[in-house]
Amino acid sequence: MQFIPFSPLIDIGFWSQLSKNKIEIYKLDDGERSLLVKTKINPYQEKTSQLYLDIYAFQDEITLNKSGPFEVYSRIQFQNYNTIETYQEFDHLNYVQQTFKKMIESFSKDEKPNLFQGRMSIFADLKKYLFYYKLVVPQFQIENIQNIIQKSLTDYLGDQMQLFQQQLSLIIQQQQKEISNTSFVILRKENLQYVQFDEYQKNKQDVIFLYFDSYNQAQLNGQFNNFLAYLITNNSIKDQLNNIKIIVIKDALTINKNQFSLKNSIYLELNLSESKIIEQNGQYKAFNIEGYLQEKKIDLKSFMDEQSLAREAVDLNIKLMKWRLLPELDLEKVQTQKVLLIGAGTLGCQLARNLIGWGIRKITFVDYGKISYSNPVRQSLYDFEDSTKGGRPKAEVAAEKLKKIFPDIESEGYQLQIPMPGHFVTELQVQQTLESFYKLSELVSTHDAVFLLTDSRESRWLPTVLSNAYGKMCFSVALGFDSFLIIRHGISLKKYNPEIHGERLACYFCNDISSPGNSMKDRTLDQQCTVTRPGLSFLASAYSSELFVSLIHSPLLDGTPASDNTEQLQQTDLGILPHFLRGQLSDFEVRLFYGRAFKHCVACSQQILDALEKNPQSFLLEALNRPDVLQDISGITEELTQNKQEIHEIQDIDGDDECSVLQIIS
Ligand SMILES: [Zn+2]
Repeated sequence: MQFIPFSPLIDIGFWSQLSKNKIEIYKLDDGERSLLVKTKINPYQEKTSQLYLDIYAFQDEITLNKSGPFEVYSRIQFQNYNTIETYQEFDHLNYVQQTFKKMIESFSKDEKPNLFQGRMSIFADLKKYLFYYKLVVPQFQIENIQNIIQKSLTDYLGDQMQLFQQQLSLIIQQQQKEISNTSFVILRKENLQYVQFDEYQKNKQDVIFLYFDSYNQAQLNGQFNNFLAYLITNNSIKDQLNNIKIIVIKDALTINKNQFSLKNSIYLELNLSESKIIEQNGQYKAFNIEGYLQEKKIDLKSFMDEQSLAREAVDLNIKLMKWRLLPELDLEKVQTQKVLLIGAGTLGCQLARNLIGWGIRKITFVDYGKISYSNPVRQSLYDFEDSTKGGRPKAEVAAEKLKKIFPDIESEGYQLQIPMPGHFVTELQVQQTLESFYKLSELVSTHDAVFLLTDSRESRWLPTVLSNAYGKMCFSVALGFDSFLIIRHGISLKKYNPEIHGERLACYFCNDISSPGNSMKDRTLDQQCTVTRPGLSFLASAYSSELFVSLIHSPLLDGTPASDNTEQLQQTDLGILPHFLRGQLSDFEVRLFYGRAFKHCVACSQQILDALEKNPQSFLLEALNRPDVLQDISGITEELTQNKQEIHEIQDIDGDDECSVLQIIS
């Protein structure tokens, strides 16, 4: 009698499910678990794999296979280690001996023995898509097996073939639902009737064992030894050991058909009265133990395309934060944010990079400019080539470059001139201005958050108005020579509810008592361009992306109240949620401020919102050509005449006079 070891076939789905479970469920818990293993006979002669692990291995129950080949299910031990060291430390030889002892103990009991026991030890190096594993299936070795009769099953059955096939069909339906203990069943010899195990316990005479071997060729799988070990150690059948009758099924059986091909199956009569389990130096000798203990390595990289690899790796990096540092991190909420960046310069480029680092997948750029020779050294998405031949459009190139960095990103760029108060629109320009206005409106309405990253005050006005009108989160980031300012705008009036949100927070314009005008007029070259210390935009974009991600974790989002007392600021698991941040490189400090929304704000007040909604086109054109009109609409003009003397200066929270928040108290 010749035996061959299991040749496991581990489906790629198994490894990807394991990775998923490790990241999302097990995390740092590397305790013992179990796996559902299938053995089945392969219908193809050349394919001899008989032990299968797939995506279903992690389930608690069998997913019924109603049309495929008949499968025998077993549960094995499974441990996925956190480190390669602890994985290597496990003593598999000792495990095998302990398992043998437990099996023999169980064989003398009056219950159906579990002949299939095993263990899979894994170390998954998820960053490299490498999996190291050992899959050990303890199998005894038996000596002195005497083969009395061996013939093909069809010869043995003769005219009982039809009867046998009917029984087999019933057995398969029954066995398909059970885990473990299913590699053999018992038949009464005279009528080939299937006998339940407890019935068999009452009468062990005149039976035939029906054994499902998992190997489709002449040899038997080493697992057969465990079956023999059960027979020879079970005292209650000692008197029958000289003639044990076994039908060994070696053909792939399908579940639904009553007609089986049984051409490879055999009938055996064995004399086991002299048979013994082989021991050496007080240890049971295990079949193919060297083979099972050999470490195997799977490199999943070779099965995945590069883009999927990048996606998995990016997600993994973020998910790792959840393991220890930030279990409350709501990745899905972060990653599904659609972000609109107005301005694709130093801030826009760097902010986009920070956002994709957080796993954000949808980023849209708006910028009218082209890439100039001076841009690539500071604007992290461009290179020299982009600045040549007149320069390519920034928004378009930024979107393109993001995709090069991370192909899964959904990025778009629009070369669009933002209509600005004080930038006069001639008759000829009206059509184009309105087109830009409607495009910008559409973009704001289809994103979740808008970042204002342009270098002039007036270019932030329309996006602020639109964010308020469409109820979107809005952030302003502005750079000085050595200082930056970040504001999370107060919640849109469309969503504002004083009972929930408390005092509404200021927008970028709330502190102004004049309308934004053309700030480029009468400026020298150094005043027209943003001349800033090179590191500044990186700091500002880093703070703003982190403020954004923190804010997303607050249930009230941009409606989260703020305070002039840092101690009283709302917190999430990522930390506090300030309203203003002002960073200064001269003393390397970042200070926090707070300001209330101004009811006569030229950008976010109810009056402006109403005017926009009443007649968007005329409101816009008037605001562009005669910015003072915004003061009139918002009511500043009237307020100023009435309360000329009542402009108060509200001290900022740490007493920095330079950055105080001006407000009119009315
Ligand atoms: Zn405002």
